[in-house]
Amino acid sequence: MNYDVIIVGGGVIGASIAYFLTKSKKFNVLLCEKGKPPGDGATSISGGLLRVHHTNNANQYLSFRSLQLYKELTASKQMDFGYHPIGFSLMVGPQYVENFKINVQNMVNLGLPIKVYSPNEYSLEERFINVENIGAVSYEPLGGYGNPAKTSLAFIHESLKQGLHLMEGTEVQDIVVNKNKVVGVQTNLSPIFAKHVIIASNYWGGKLTKNIGIDLPIYTKRLGVVFAHTDTDKVLSHSYIDDTSDTYMRPFPDGRILIGIKSSECDISDIHFKRKIQNEEALEAIDRASKRFPILQKAKVLGGRIGFDSYTPDQYPLIGPTEYEGLYLSVGFGGGGYKIAPAVGEAIAKEILYNTKTNELKYYRINRFEKEKKYTYFQTKSMYKYM
Ligand SMILES: Cc1cc2nc3c(=O)[nH]c(=O)nc-3n(C[C@H](O)[C@H](O)[C@H](O)COP(=O)(O)OP(=O)(O)OC[C@H]3O[C@@H](n4cnc5c(N)ncnc54)[C@H](O)[C@@H]3O)c2cc1C
Repeated sequence: MNYDVIIVGGGVIGASIAYFLTKSKKFNVLLCEKGKPPGDGATSISGGLLRVHHTNNANQYLSFRSLQLYKELTASKQMDFGYHPIGFSLMVGPQYVENFKINVQNMVNLGLPIKVYSPNEYSLEERFINVENIGAVSYEPLGGYGNPAKTSLAFIHESLKQGLHLMEGTEVQDIVVNKNKVVGVQTNLSPIFAKHVIIASNYWGGKLTKNIGIDLPIYTKRLGVVFAHTDTDKVLSHSYIDDTSDTYMRPFPDGRILIGIKSSECDISDIHFKRKIQNEEALEAIDRASKRFPILQKAKVLGGRIGFDSYTPDQYPLIGPTEYEGLYLSVGFGGGGYKIAPAVGEAIAKEILYNTKTNELKYYRINRFEKEKKYTYFQTKSMYKYM
């Protein structure tokens, strides 16, 4: 069978691309997922925090547009992303206050509702917080969290109604090219032909491209989340990143709390053997969170999830066409793909459908790491640890 587009990978990125491509009704689209959506990758493990606060305009734009899409699609199409706009705060140390003001101003210019608090003002709003070492805090009422696995399934479900062909349990084993052009893929079942192939298979994408001579600058980090419980109600009223201690956390509607564990570089082959959270790393995460919310010292571990995401040298994804006509990549989302997934899918669909290049994706191109190029765009002067 021939398709216009084959998407490899049914995580939140592949699913979002599928949604926006099939929405146009212009192309015959196939999605191949080696497992069962939302797959066995980062999406099924993700913390799901949603924020616009970044230290560069490109990601601010994509995450703001994504929040708008999460909101609009929930309202108009009744799609269930598990989107909870309960608010999001980012806290930085005193050394970053000037950078912080620049970034907040950029987000105000985008039209984002965002409020800045001094540490003292913030402590009046947050019953349990310790504001030691904080220089400034921003609060975005539209931020919060969503459910990445549900989001991927919602996009795929809607795409199926729009004509998507889905092959589950189908592993793409090779990208098939003829000279400088992609012609399709070879799966574990058969060859399938298409004019466009979009690789949205996270770290595994790099293995596929290597076979055709494209060596991607991506590596993996082990990431995970701890679930904890405290007897005190509503310790966390919304989602938070504490840049001073490299900690993210958020509540669940049922009162549980999610805290990110420390990430570390890893070999993906190890991941499958170490997917259980270790007691020490769970306790370390709670300890870090309790520096900001001391009442969490009494929190009990309820479990956790361990997985990975792929990273690039500047921590931002690789999105765009390759040297092979028709072959497009969208990989390497560096622990932050969920909050930008809808806008990324929308922009990629535009590029493929109209054979164009969008402004919103221009900084993410895959050739930015080539030797003679300087990949400085994301190293802004107004950076903190959380970019
Ligand atoms: C613990 C953790 C916490 C996170 N927290 C946040 C957060 O708070 N906010 C945020 O924005 N982001 C967060 N992220 C990051 C975000 O979840 C990821 O960036 C995003 O889910 C990546 O989606 P993806 O579709 O690129 O990859 P994946 O979800 O990994 O999907 C890739 C898919 O490709 C499939 N596949 C692979 N190879 C093949 C093949 N050869 N053939 C067919 N199918 C294939 C896999 O089975 C998989 O389903 C977190 C990630 C983790 C792990």
